[in-house]
Amino acid sequence: MALTRREFLTAACTAAALWPKLLRARAPADSPFTLGVASGYPHPRGCTLWTRLAPLPLHGGGMPPEPVEVQWEVARDEAFRSIVARGESAALPQWGHSVHIDVSGLDADRWYWYRFTALGARSAAGRTRTAPHERPGAELRFAFASCQQYEQGYYAAYRHMAREALDLVVHLGDYIYESSWGRSHVRAHGTPEPVTLDDYRNRYALYKSDADLQAAHAAFPWLCTWDDHEVQNDYANDRSQFLDDREAFLARRAAAYQAYYEHMPLPQWARPRGADMQLYTRLPYGALAQFHVLDGRQHKSHQVCPRPGYGGSNQVAAMLCPERMDEALTLFGLPQERWLHDGLSATPGRWHIVAQQTLMAQADRGPGEAQEFWTDGWDGYPRARERLLRHIAEQRIRNAVVISGDVHMAAVADLKVDFNDPRSAVVATEFCGTSITSQGPSRKRVETLLAKNAHLKYADGALRGYTVLHLNERRCVATLRALNNVRDPASGIYDVASYVVENGRPGAQRL
Ligand code: FE
Ligand code: CA
Repeated sequence: MALTRREFLTAACTAAALWPKLLRARAPADSPFTLGVASGYPHPRGCTLWTRLAPLPLHGGGMPPEPVEVQWEVARDEAFRSIVARGESAALPQWGHSVHIDVSGLDADRWYWYRFTALGARSAAGRTRTAPHERPGAELRFAFASCQQYEQGYYAAYRHMAREALDLVVHLGDYIYESSWGRSHVRAHGTPEPVTLDDYRNRYALYKSDADLQAAHAAFPWLCTWDDHEVQNDYANDRSQFLDDREAFLARRAAAYQAYYEHMPLPQWARPRGADMQLYTRLPYGALAQFHVLDGRQHKSHQVCPRPGYGGSNQVAAMLCPERMDEALTLFGLPQERWLHDGLSATPGRWHIVAQQTLMAQADRGPGEAQEFWTDGWDGYPRARERLLRHIAEQRIRNAVVISGDVHMAAVADLKVDFNDPRSAVVATEFCGTSITSQGPSRKRVETLLAKNAHLKYADGALRGYTVLHLNERRCVATLRALNNVRDPASGIYDVASYVVENGRPGAQRL
């Protein structure tokens, strides 16, 4: 059942009453700025600013089918006394009245505030930060998050994230879920699984109506990549998990990709063309770090050894699925794979933050002696993983940090060329974040993982939250932050554990 407008507004008011500080951040009742504001993809000269006009967000947006002018301005101060850039842009009906403003001409390494005006209304102000030029002594603090099934919990983690001292946020996928699943829901999608563009727009609008999520977008610039649930669980490239007709599935993928673009602070170069969208990109952060933001869904080979009559994932005994070892299997597609390898080689010295969807470390899930692997993640593409990690080893890249999501479990792992050989050297470090809300694996499954995978230094599937990474030239410290209770919208948060990686020495040590 869909929330009526009155119910939606009541829910918004209740949320505001719980957190008076957020009240100012919410748009007035008839404003088109119901989905908040966002920024993303910072560089030393600017970033991208985003909003979408949607006075009736859960019902197609509620805008007339015509272009609407949107004014934007960027200031050096929160009160907008010193405005340094402004302009106008048309919000077009064919793009859901979203705008993506690629701002340039700003100064490096400083905070800016931005806001929009349209239809006589003014948006809340957002805050963003440009990336630094190459300057010694720089630091970088960012949070990464993933997997925010709306029905399984509240976004209290984002309320806490918005109050952190961060330079940016990285989202690693499952920003929306197309499906209802899991136990003990605290709130409901209220609509069936999306298939059309209108369906996906309404699903994004529901998620983005959350005040805590809006607050985290308004506080920092974001980088983002998707995983499967932005389209459909376990889809791979042009294949649906239910082996739907290929053309019909690509039409659905086109709708889902367009809705993703319309709701994220993506630069205009990412605008999709039909069922194709450029998402992977590189983002330098001064001389300190480089983000490689990867797309492990659009170009991946179909999963091997599926259940009869299905596409998608399966858990298979390694012995019974030799197809897994096929060299031709790729998670990124060969052009992206080459591009990643080249980018890792090109900038020695910097931290490499490899931002991608799913757990890279081998994760033998077999409860007995035999190895069993889940085919949707890297364990379904072991030769592609080996190519990447061998490249890192051979090029002597000593400071690659992989960040990942998808598995709803926090994990810290040593990455090796050969996970089955205990003497194989540690060549990179992985921090897998847990989910914002999505339910994780049972304690028993996690115990099996820890018992059978010595390169997993830490794993916990019971926590909901995010990870903060703090880097300087010498070290990278990762802190896992978890909610007391994801079912409580006012939940507190606490530090679970911190791990450090020394620059030039792969592998994390517990602090
Ligand atoms: Fe997920
Ligand atoms: Ca996923």
